[in-house]
Amino acid sequence: MSGELKEACGVFGIVGTPGAPHLAAEALFALQHRGQESAGIAAISNGQLLLEKGMGLVHEVFTEERLARLQGEMVIGHVRYSTTGASRPENAQPLYFRARLGPFALAHNGNLVDAMQERKALEAQGAIFQTTTDTEVVAHVMAHSSAQTLPQSLLDALGRLHGGYAIVVLFRGGVLGARDPYGIRPLVLGRLRGKPCLASETCALTAVGAVYERDVRPGEILWLTPQGDVMEIAAGDAKREKLCAFELIYFARPDSQVRGESIYGARYRLGQQLAKEAPAAADLVLGVPDSSLPAAEGYAAELGIPQELGLVKNRYVGRTFIRPGRDGRTAGVQRKLSVVPEVVRGRAVALIDDSLVRGTTMRHLTQILREAGATAVHVRIASPRYLHPCHYGIDTSNRDELIANESDPKILLQRIGADSLQFLSAEGVLRATGHQDHCLACFTGDYPVPVPLDLRKDSAEEEME
Ligand code: SF4
Repeated sequence: MSGELKEACGVFGIVGTPGAPHLAAEALFALQHRGQESAGIAAISNGQLLLEKGMGLVHEVFTEERLARLQGEMVIGHVRYSTTGASRPENAQPLYFRARLGPFALAHNGNLVDAMQERKALEAQGAIFQTTTDTEVVAHVMAHSSAQTLPQSLLDALGRLHGGYAIVVLFRGGVLGARDPYGIRPLVLGRLRGKPCLASETCALTAVGAVYERDVRPGEILWLTPQGDVMEIAAGDAKREKLCAFELIYFARPDSQVRGESIYGARYRLGQQLAKEAPAAADLVLGVPDSSLPAAEGYAAELGIPQELGLVKNRYVGRTFIRPGRDGRTAGVQRKLSVVPEVVRGRAVALIDDSLVRGTTMRHLTQILREAGATAVHVRIASPRYLHPCHYGIDTSNRDELIANESDPKILLQRIGADSLQFLSAEGVLRATGHQDHCLACFTGDYPVPVPLDLRKDSAEEEME
């Protein structure tokens, strides 16, 4: 798909570690694929909460000069791609709050399905919002709690709000980390020189030299104290897990692990399963770089067809979805991918992509493959038809834009310009990942966290504002 979905954000937190702000910058750099709009780090130094954030990539925001303004051994960090709230500096995270229980900073990956209702209710009680993010809703609910400690106020707030999220909070008493009751968005616990840290993906742990300890359980709330103890504020329940299947299909970095298993390995098996379900009469297999290459490897190996380097990605063009709007996206795709004509000329191609969302990339690819002399282009998608909008932190707000909703197979083929098109089944995804407990709502419409009717209607229009 090469960037047709806006990804979730990425979070990081660590306690008791000298040079924590620099470590956070390293971790956020490793999580950059999860959000490229803004980056931010909050730190506690001598009881003071310091915050630096800005629009842009991690290395653009965190110059040495800016990092030097942050001190202390406890930090949280965030990279953002907006799913609710516009792409504006004031919406960059972490967000800073002064509350009855002291100052705190909060960063969030995911979406609350009841953020709008809660916001209206809070505004009716006199709350004044500074941003358009649902992250601020969490903070206001915390501030309105009658709890006597900040960890308890987070427990109260998360008991009242619903959605798919991973949250980190920094306060004078340490770092809190929480995952939604279904574990839709990922969060892992690691250790660096004995001190605990939290991250959206294990690649961020590796980047700072930390070792993976375990996934935070669905519904679990952890308190990382300044001394490095890990206390459980809410136990969580692993049996309820509905981890987003798209983390395995596309979002997470292939060198990350989920539940201790390799993302690369999962994608390879998705490709193998796709080959079993939808073999193509092709001379060679091409994967759409970079995210579909492991699935293409698995597909080619299963069918005994060579996988070759027939598509090249220009690494110096930003991600396709950075340009808002359809024309901007199309131009981005054209600049980003090109064909090696000698590889495809006179040959039938099986073109493997991890997903088919809007179809912008696929239309361009089938066209340039034909122009380069491919005799046939058989498109195979290593995930099911993407039919329903995500309400848990991935922006596919407009249902009409989802190309797989075209019910006429002939028109669908014409729209993407392929000779044939087949998708992996939902059962195939579960078989390949080896787990039955994934959210598959964008394929099946079966939402693990009920989505209010008005949000379902809104999703056919545009974003929250
Ligand atoms: S609806 Fe799709 S993208 Fe959203 S959390 Fe579920 S599996 Fe992931």
